[in-house]
Amino acid sequence: MSANRPQIETFGCRLNIWESEVMRDKAHEAGLNDAIIFNTCAVTSEAEKQARQSIRKWRRERPDAKIIVTGCAAQIDPNTWRDLPEVDYVIGNHDKLDADNWRNLEQGLLAPVHVSDVMEIRETASHFIDEFDDHTRAFLQVQQGCDHRCTFCIIPYGRGPSRSVGVGAVIESVEKLVASGVNEVVLTGVDITSWGHDLPGTPRLGHLVQQILKFVPQLPRLRLSSIDPAEPDHLLMDAIGTEPRLMPHLHLSVQHGDDVILKRMKRRHLARDIRRFVEEARRRRPDVIFGADMIAGFPTEDESAHQQSLALIEACDIPLLHVFGFSPREGTPAARMPQLDGGIIKQRSRDLRALGTRLLHQTLDNLVGSQDELLFEKGNQGHLRNFIKAKITGDVFYASGTVLAVKVIARDGDMVLVEPQDTDDKGAS
Ligand code: SF4
Repeated sequence: MSANRPQIETFGCRLNIWESEVMRDKAHEAGLNDAIIFNTCAVTSEAEKQARQSIRKWRRERPDAKIIVTGCAAQIDPNTWRDLPEVDYVIGNHDKLDADNWRNLEQGLLAPVHVSDVMEIRETASHFIDEFDDHTRAFLQVQQGCDHRCTFCIIPYGRGPSRSVGVGAVIESVEKLVASGVNEVVLTGVDITSWGHDLPGTPRLGHLVQQILKFVPQLPRLRLSSIDPAEPDHLLMDAIGTEPRLMPHLHLSVQHGDDVILKRMKRRHLARDIRRFVEEARRRRPDVIFGADMIAGFPTEDESAHQQSLALIEACDIPLLHVFGFSPREGTPAARMPQLDGGIIKQRSRDLRALGTRLLHQTLDNLVGSQDELLFEKGNQGHLRNFIKAKITGDVFYASGTVLAVKVIARDGDMVLVEPQDTDDKGAS
């Protein structure tokens, strides 16, 4: 990070990564270049512990810097963060995107704790980012907050009600990002499948995807961050089947494979809905690769329920797994349910991760001989269209952001080795 810009430590989701870019610009414009900003996550107690450790480390290294804490953990429990001796300011999740607050902080006019009630927020402003530091793939917020109340989840209390960014503002942002050299845009939010419910005519996510691809023909790759399989719309399913620039990679918020546990989680889908969604998406787009968020060790989960999770992931062939060992979040209904032993939670998390690795290796072996396009990120590595990690053979280096036609020649651990598809490659050095 260049010396004259604020240091930002980001924890958690892609939405936080995007918001950190917005804050970096606004804090920089306010002249707050000696500040260190911590954009926290509250999804697990581990995420909060990591933020506290990072704050202590930076305070030791930069005793005179202004230390500012924001993000979901700060929004949900501001006083706990204010009470840390290293911390100077605590700013709310909505307040962190307001340029006035950064200016007031720089001029010493902001209260040490400036956190507004996020449950009162009804609109979500669109913030244009000039560039996306260190990221060849640009995350773009199209939705914020959540109206659901999954029993394990604290996010709605940190992010407020669901609200959408208008189509016009999204398209303008995509155009700006593409003009700045970005080749892939990832639509992100807390629950992007609910995008549009608060807009005139209540359009759905599929409409937004089709509008972006129609009005920004120069955008090579559009990716969805994560979708709720309980709420796919027909335009989205059409786009999955017909839009080659919509990447063949769908990350699903599955969480569990047992229907009783899914009901206790207050999820809006059952196991059969996942199977049906995966089958239909695969029928329309045979090269699609799935990922999923899964929770291991949810309260009252017994061995057979755990086996249902393993069976669902296997049956749907979902190789890109994000596995979370259940972590009770104070204030959620699941935190008041009878908790499982920590050792069982760890073992079941290992089971799911081991299954994910096995399915991933099978998927990678099946890709050998296939052709794809690699978006270079760091050095000679990047991601294919299906979000599989890939490394190019040989010692030719390609500029970050280059998109190259490649052929998969072998599996290499959890990624594939590829070679250039044809010789007159652009960007080779
Ligand atoms: S859909 Fe459920 S898990 Fe996702 S943010 Fe909303 S409450 Fe949390």
